[in-house]
Amino acid sequence: MTDKFLQGRRAIVTGSTSGIGHGVAEALAAAGADVVLNSFTDTEADHRQAADLGAKHGVTVTYIKADMSKADECRALIEKAGGCDILVNNAGIQHVAKIEDFPVEKWNAILAINLSSAFHTTAAALPGMYAKGWGRVINIASAHGLTASPFKGAYVAAKHGVVGFTKVTALEAAGKGITANAICPGYVLTPLVEAQIPDQMKTHNMDRETVIREVMLERQPSRQFATTEEIGGTAVFLCSDAAAQITGTTISVDGGWTAL
Ligand code: NAD
Repeated sequence: MTDKFLQGRRAIVTGSTSGIGHGVAEALAAAGADVVLNSFTDTEADHRQAADLGAKHGVTVTYIKADMSKADECRALIEKAGGCDILVNNAGIQHVAKIEDFPVEKWNAILAINLSSAFHTTAAALPGMYAKGWGRVINIASAHGLTASPFKGAYVAAKHGVVGFTKVTALEAAGKGITANAICPGYVLTPLVEAQIPDQMKTHNMDRETVIREVMLERQPSRQFATTEEIGGTAVFLCSDAAAQITGTTISVDGGWTAL
């Protein structure tokens, strides 16, 4: 696998203006892929971020707005990009509440963004991959695609759904040069997670390091966050020839969470 082995491939990464999505987009760009960044906003900063990433790695990076909670916008994203060789379904949100208190609109939004969007983008992307005889579908699930936690009913249901849908995608595409896999990260220090630390410090009256180790990473035996670079590296590996027969499975990047 040469440094720029993805030259000539086009990757679409949903929800990629920050966090894991951006880390995956950057890793794919560094491996030579042209990349489409996506989120639901359409600001000058979104387009500048894409241009900067492209300039940094000498590839074409564009930004396409599409709200992953809307079926037609998910499908339009693939069309506007002109199809893709690598599809990374990453956009996701979270809400934490007891089942009996869980707001219906939050349940619907989480199922739409974290699960149904992957169906719509995959449905729109597969015909182009079949025509080329090559493709990679990478779904960013979660340790919560394999295990559960209380108060995360919608998220856990959606992520288990993503794992199941990944298997079906792999079976339908088997033998056609296309693989579909789910990466299951444990806790990753993204802006979303970083923002929770000050509140946790107050609630538990602990310093930053103790909150991270004892509260946030309580289920992660390494007691270390996974990084966006590690998730990106895993995605790049799944795009390599070495991973051609890895399909329909999950790869945990969780510091041992699911070994417990
Ligand atoms: P993040 O909030 O940093 O990034 C989420 C991205 O999704 C952003 O770019 C945001 O703009 C985009 N997004 C949100 N709603 C959208 C919508 N309706 N349409 C289009 N884009 C939308 O979050 P993150 O932590 O990087 O999470 C990314 C993915 O990784 C999610 O699917 C999440 O469930 C999963 N994940 C995260 C962790 C973690 O610890 N951070 C662990 C396991 C799995």
